[in-house]
Amino acid sequence: MAKFLSGLGLFLIALLVVRSAPANASPQTESLAKLVQEFDWIRQGQVGILHLSGEGIQWAYAKFMRQTFLFFPDPRCGEKCIDQIAVLSAPMTATLEFHPLTVRVYYEDGSDETIEDNIRVAYGEFGEEELILPADLVPLLEPEVTDRENAFLRSLLSNFRPEQDWLNSGFKLPREGYYVSIYGTWRTFNGGSRWYRHSGVDYPMPTGTPIQAAANGRVAYVGTMDIRGNYIVLDHGWGIFTGYAHASEIYVEVGNVVKQNEIIGAVGNTGRSTGPHLHFEIGVGGVWVNPLVVIPLFNQIRMEQSNGS
Ligand SMILES: [Zn+2]
Repeated sequence: MAKFLSGLGLFLIALLVVRSAPANASPQTESLAKLVQEFDWIRQGQVGILHLSGEGIQWAYAKFMRQTFLFFPDPRCGEKCIDQIAVLSAPMTATLEFHPLTVRVYYEDGSDETIEDNIRVAYGEFGEEELILPADLVPLLEPEVTDRENAFLRSLLSNFRPEQDWLNSGFKLPREGYYVSIYGTWRTFNGGSRWYRHSGVDYPMPTGTPIQAAANGRVAYVGTMDIRGNYIVLDHGWGIFTGYAHASEIYVEVGNVVKQNEIIGAVGNTGRSTGPHLHFEIGVGGVWVNPLVVIPLFNQIRMEQSNGS
């Protein structure tokens, strides 16, 4: 409660706007950007849309929870619209309080401004499960193995490609319905006391089942990792990525352009896996988020674009 109250205090005194005018320019207070959070809070492991409007904005970015997020033209508001949006993510490990947000806006006339705000992070509702791992895979439970893999992926997922491949196709889950383990689940292995977090959704499928691209994009990584085994990462633009782990075969190479539903590999049981399945994950702005929640949101944005509303 104390944390919440101090967060609320910060929130109330926030919205501090600092603007620096270029030399020899008259003050242009009317062109101050307006920043709106299209949400009341962001849940752990989920995303929220930041909306930026104002005249003469060239580009802008947001800093939130140590990650940088670029703004892109809002696809929902028509051709002449100059509004921009950023898709912000909160890590599953984010503490439940208000976190500072900084938005930097750069104008066509050379001026810039900084908008300070706060974002409330709310509970992500995660389950628990206990897994049994074969003895030969137990060394892969060492924390250094997880840390090394996470550090590599965080840097890969922090890239922002301005192309909006995903908007042309929308996203599709590997399968509607049946899965065995969802995003964010707290896990223990072989009766141990150490907790691990699940970064995606597990779909049990026989070895050899085709793995299809969830959306249009570009292949950002193929290779073999300790935990994920044979692994493919697709970059869909706007800092949105999908990952496909434990594959038996990979049919694509880095740089390949792929279309939604294109077969990019085959399901397998490689890496730290307890049986043939597809581990599917989605990253936004450098962190893994809940596919079952964010994919419907992305598809909603795409729908509103098609309707021209
Ligand atoms: Zn998994």
